[in-house]
Amino acid sequence: MSDCIFCLIAEGKIPADIVFEGANVLAFRDIDPKAPTHVVIIPKRHINPLNDLEEEDILVIPEMYMAARAVAAGEEIDQSGYRLVANTGPDSGQEVEHMHWHVLGGRRLGGMG
Ligand code: 5GP
Ligand code: ZN
Repeated sequence: MSDCIFCLIAEGKIPADIVFEGANVLAFRDIDPKAPTHVVIIPKRHINPLNDLEEEDILVIPEMYMAARAVAAGEEIDQSGYRLVANTGPDSGQEVEHMHWHVLGGRRLGGMG
């Protein structure tokens, strides 16, 4: 999708601080970090998790999970702990309609809210 900011990052058309790349996934630092480590993990292909997660896309999920583990290890928060957040839909505050998970860590994270 040409107007999707995460597609543009995946295509290298706008810069991002990339911390991990896999065959089908990319991880980069959030531009507005909410914790000392705040990395966003995306599938390179545009997937809107609300309405176009196809059966074939399911296979990207373990790859995203392994990317999260690699990011946590690289950021040295794998032992201290971290949170994976997948905002989905209006009530979650989701802003970008390209599937993504946030990896948050490096400080004590508050309760879920
Ligand atoms: P959401 O609220 O949709 O779950 O998360 C979208 C995230 O993308 C936000 O945390 C926001 O700061 C981040 N973001 C938005 N635009 C950019 C950008 O151009 N570059 C990077 N690195 N992060 C972005
Ligand atoms: Zn996209």
